[in-house]
Amino acid sequence: QINTAALQKLDSAHYLHPFTDHTDLAKKGARIITKAQGVHIWDSNDNQILDGMSGLWCVNMGYGQQSLVDAATKQMQTLPFYNSFFNTSVEPAIELATLLSEITPPQFNHVFYSSSGSESNDTILRMVRRYWDMQGEKQRKTIISRKNAYHGSTVAGASLGGMTGMHEQGDLPIPGIVHIEQPYLREAVKDKPELKDLSEDEFGIVAAGWLEEKILEIGKDKVAAFIGEPVQGAGGVIIPPKTYWPEIQRICDKYGILLISDEVICGFGRLGTWFGCETMGTKPDFMTFAKGVTSGYIPLGGAMVSQRVVDVIYKDGDFNHGYTYSGHPVACAVALANIKLMQKLDIVNTVKNDTAPYLKKMFEALNDHPLVADAQTLGMVGGLVLVKDKDKNIGFDDDDNVGMICRGHCFDNGLVMRAVGDRMIIAPPLTMAHDNIDELLSKARKALDATLKDVSK
Ligand code: PLP
Repeated sequence: QINTAALQKLDSAHYLHPFTDHTDLAKKGARIITKAQGVHIWDSNDNQILDGMSGLWCVNMGYGQQSLVDAATKQMQTLPFYNSFFNTSVEPAIELATLLSEITPPQFNHVFYSSSGSESNDTILRMVRRYWDMQGEKQRKTIISRKNAYHGSTVAGASLGGMTGMHEQGDLPIPGIVHIEQPYLREAVKDKPELKDLSEDEFGIVAAGWLEEKILEIGKDKVAAFIGEPVQGAGGVIIPPKTYWPEIQRICDKYGILLISDEVICGFGRLGTWFGCETMGTKPDFMTFAKGVTSGYIPLGGAMVSQRVVDVIYKDGDFNHGYTYSGHPVACAVALANIKLMQKLDIVNTVKNDTAPYLKKMFEALNDHPLVADAQTLGMVGGLVLVKDKDKNIGFDDDDNVGMICRGHCFDNGLVMRAVGDRMIIAPPLTMAHDNIDELLSKARKALDATLKDVSK
């Protein structure tokens, strides 16, 4: 028997939660999640909740996959840990590196392992600088990223990210990282009303052009790399216009700048291709990943490094970088089982041809709701904007807290949807069946109706 009140008290007394308002948490008490199966989670009061966020964009293959549990158990019994520092290596890490080289785009033959997305992006920052140093272009230090991007919480990750709330706490970004505007038309027209009549495709070219402007402002021989998520996730599922990424690639090629695709969310099938860059049509020099590589069953991250970069960075043999848990055998064994399961179920093609088109049809139907504008999906991510006056296109103020109100109603109706400001977002498990998607949408609609009632009071 779980004593919810006692756990909540201890939680509040001792546990500092990530990205959480602790005043609010102490008032309400944490919802204690106790078990999960398939695409549902349960709390300590036995409420069954549909997981519209795959945990935190990670449980791509859903809960209760026995082959992942078996892989972890077997590896823990045989060899729970050994490092790869002493001219040593471990079988699951070797096998996974080989499999990753097979399923990633052809420019990738090597992986560097970490335990998270943040560490993976830290790794890249060091590799990019090392690359240009080895090329005799030490002055190429600046990495260009985007406002509202999320690349992690370490000093480098939060600096690469474009979250002002994070920058304000801790004097970030570190020198050498600058941010351009994101490709989000609704936001862009607030400062640049002249953009309002552009088509999505025209806007994509304009938004990518901000990269070129920034390169020329900094000096084209000083820019090292551009980093971006194929679809900005934590920033609110900002789906870029189709023209955006090909134009970014053209600009990177023109100035010889390295392209980093942060695949922590978009990798491992989320957009209906193995990696998001394949959906977007780019050919990055680095891809960082985490989350979906193990379906979140155990922490693992990494960076795929293209052959041309490996040839330069490892020319002298070594690169002084690594984590105790780089290539952790248990994490790698779980990742292997996860990827093999994805292959066995042909999940990426199923997402592309069946699940994602159905989700799109159902989710985008929310555009008829009086509170909703711009409901859109791509693959298995989706986002919508909550608006105060749909006809006049007037949004809510930050103080209205509309996203958090709606998130509360989602939970009350047995659904996890995430709120980012005035945007409500989803990233359901790739294993969702049509009836799960129907359940998601009917619960989302109820939550929206309840939110409308609240904000109309
Ligand atoms: N990059 C992206 C795109 C992410 O969404 C995240 C986490 O949400 C990260 C990096 C950081 O990953 P982690 O939380 O595993 O450090």
